[in-house]
This record gives sequence, C-alpha cells and structure tokens, in this order.
Amino acid sequence: MQKIAIIGATGSIGTQTIEIVKEHPDKLKVHLISGHSNADLLIEQAKEFSVPKVVVTDENAYKKVKEALKNTNNKVEFGQNALRDLVQEEEIDIVVAAIVGFAGLSSTLSAIQAGKKIALANKETLVVAGKIVMDEAKKHGAEIVPIDSEHAAIYQCLVGERKEDIEKIILSASGGPFIGKKTNFLLNVKKDHALQHPNWDMGAKISIDSASLMNKGLEMIEAKWLFGLKDDQIEVIVHPQSVIHSLVEFVDGSLKAQLGIPDMRIPIQYAFSLPHRWKNSYKKFSFKDYAKLTFEEADTKTFRNLELAQNAMKQCGNMPCILNAANEEVVFAFLKNKVGFIEMSDIIEKTMEKVPFLENLTLEELVQSDKEAREVALEFIKNSNLYN
Ligand code: NAD
Ligand code: MG
Repeated sequence: MQKIAIIGATGSIGTQTIEIVKEHPDKLKVHLISGHSNADLLIEQAKEFSVPKVVVTDENAYKKVKEALKNTNNKVEFGQNALRDLVQEEEIDIVVAAIVGFAGLSSTLSAIQAGKKIALANKETLVVAGKIVMDEAKKHGAEIVPIDSEHAAIYQCLVGERKEDIEKIILSASGGPFIGKKTNFLLNVKKDHALQHPNWDMGAKISIDSASLMNKGLEMIEAKWLFGLKDDQIEVIVHPQSVIHSLVEFVDGSLKAQLGIPDMRIPIQYAFSLPHRWKNSYKKFSFKDYAKLTFEEADTKTFRNLELAQNAMKQCGNMPCILNAANEEVVFAFLKNKVGFIEMSDIIEKTMEKVPFLENLTLEELVQSDKEAREVALEFIKNSNLYN
C-alpha cells in the first residue's frame, strides 16, 4: 500500500489521480489532499476517501471546508505554510505535485527536502528553479518521476539505457487547437476557442499554453533539468494525433518511442507502479482508431512562444523564471479577455527584455525575479487595447 499526497487534488491532474486511486484501492491510499478555491470538490474528496489531512490555500474556501468537515476525522489546515509542513509527514510515500504554476514550487520543494518520491506534473517548478530543485532532490535522495506525458514517455524509453548513449530527445507536440493557423487569424481568437484542445482535457492555464505552444517551450526546459540534457539535445516535433508521446534517439541511430492513447491516467499510474505495470480498465489503443500518424515542423514564426522559451532556456539564470511569470500573467489576462492571443507573446518578450538578467540565483532571488517580472508584465498588460 502506497500512501499518497495529492497537492492540487481538485484540478485536472488531481482528479485523474483520484480516479487511479479508485481503480486501485488495494494499492493506493490518500493521506493528504490540497486545493485552492474549489471547496465543494475538496469536501467531497475528503469525505469519500476519509483523507486524514486536507489543506486549503484560499481563505474563503478554507472557511467553507473547515465548517463542512468539522465533525469528521479529516483535519483541515489553511495556507501554503501548512502545506509545506504537511507534505513532509512521515506517512507519505509519494507526493503528486499537481498544483498549477509557480504556486506549486514551494510545497513541491518542501516535499523534495523531506526526501519524498515526487510524481511531478507541475512543470513550472522545474522551469523556474530547475537547478535548485534537482540539486535538492539529489541532496535529499528524492526521486522525481515525471507525469507530464512527454517526459513520462522519455523516462520509459530510458529504462535500461545509459545517459551517455542519448543523442537527443524529441518531444512531441499536438499543435493545439490552432495548428496551421496564421497570425491574422490568431489576432482575433478568444479564450473559448483557445480552450478547446483537440486531444486532451486539461486545466485552463495549460490549455492556453498548449494553444500558444508555450507548453512545449516549458516542457523543453522541464526535460533539460529532469534528464540532465544539453540545450541542443532537445527537439520538438508536431504530431497532431498525440499517440507517440515522445522519443529518444540514441548515438547508434536507433530511436525509441512510447505510445498510447492520450489519457493522462496512464503516465500518472506509471509513476505509482514503476518499475512494474498495473492492469486497469481504461480504453486501450487500437490502430483502427488511428489510420495515420503524421508529423510536421513547429511553426515558430507564428507561435513565437516556443522560440522565446528556447531563448530563455539557453540564457538560463532567471530568464526561464521571467518567461514563466510573464506567461502566467498574460494567460490569466487572456482568460479574462484583457489581452489578445498574439499580444501574449509580445508582452512576454518585452518582459524578458526589461527585467534584469541574473545568473546563479538563490531561491529567494528567484522569488524576487518572479515578482518583478509579474509587475513588469502587468504594466504591459494594462496598455493593451482590450484592458479596461
Ligand atoms: P488545474 O487548473 O486543473 O488544477 C490546478 C490545481 O492547483 C487545482 O487543484 C487548484 O486548486 C490548485 N491551485 C491553483 N492555484 C493555486 C494556488 N495559488 N495555490 C495552491 N494551489 C493552487 O491544472 P491542471 O491542468 O491539473 O495542471 C496542473 C499542473 O500539471 C500544471 O503545472 C500543468 O502544466 C501540469 N500538467 C497538466 C496536464 C493535464 O492534462 N491537465 C498534463 C501535463 C502536465
Ligand atoms: Mg505535456
């Protein structure tokens, strides 16, 4: 029996993790869940699985959850500090890091510092502080297993392989809902369209990131740290069917790919079952459903975020942190119809130019860079014609 903590239990990854717990009640037990504002769902999850520890990070939601669970055995705590403390509890074997964005960094890091095994969905943690996170993981013996589908694919392709035998990795990208579209079209797209991902049903932020190709840029940086690769060992290929989840090319010219239908429960479950596999009732792949698998180059002229992220990765220092902060702000603004789709890239680029570049940062300095970048990005956002 593995005891798990799901931080960000109410989101897309969090709820799919809960489905895996339901599928394997003999193997998984939930010790802790956290959520931000969705009090009702958190209450439901806490009751259904009799979760001993519940953390709520939004104050209003906390009051509601606390009240609803007052006569139960579920212990309810408030805030990031409580979350940082509780993820270190001895009972916990694995922490599923499923909070979205920079907000997930401190609790994930805290779990790492307690030597917990991490099933990592929260890619922004590695984008912002990859070096610090990986160094801490090494120091505290915390294993980080990716559940981002591309990275889970690469992780599986690397089982039994030596790092020095890797020529490069190739991350597959679906291309998102705007694949093939050009700037003129994208100037006028709104959030409802951008949120319609063709293959995956995900949270709002990552859905916009997928539509803008920022997601793939963040994933390049995530891969760099996870697998200890050089910048030029990481490539991207657009593969609209999302069946090949990613590939590794080895020095002898051989390639390994990992395939499956687009269902996040498969990579999440693998983080629990590895090095073995668990049977499940989920729909299986059939060639009948996929007559053709196709591949194309990413259009970085139109989708500039991919190149911006690559530049940030190469510059390193606080640049990925600045990129991430600016991106979180523009995505948030886009979801409120306060900036345009194409404008998001312009603002990220201008923020990267304006916030001072620094190398070799401490965590505190990165937190400061994040704050500064958000302030700069917000100023640019306020100048948008859509802002009012
Ligand atoms: P989501 O928006 O559906 O869920 C986010 C979770 O984080 C929720 O539980 C929410 O309560 C919590 N949260 C939000 N703001 C918070 C804050 N300020 N403090 C604490 N908790 C907060 O997001 P998601 O789609 O599940 O994505 C989660 C992470 O997983 C992201 O980093 C994303 O890039 C990554 N990821 C998601 C998918 C997917 O299919 N959804 C795939 C690969 C990677
Ligand atoms: Mg992914």
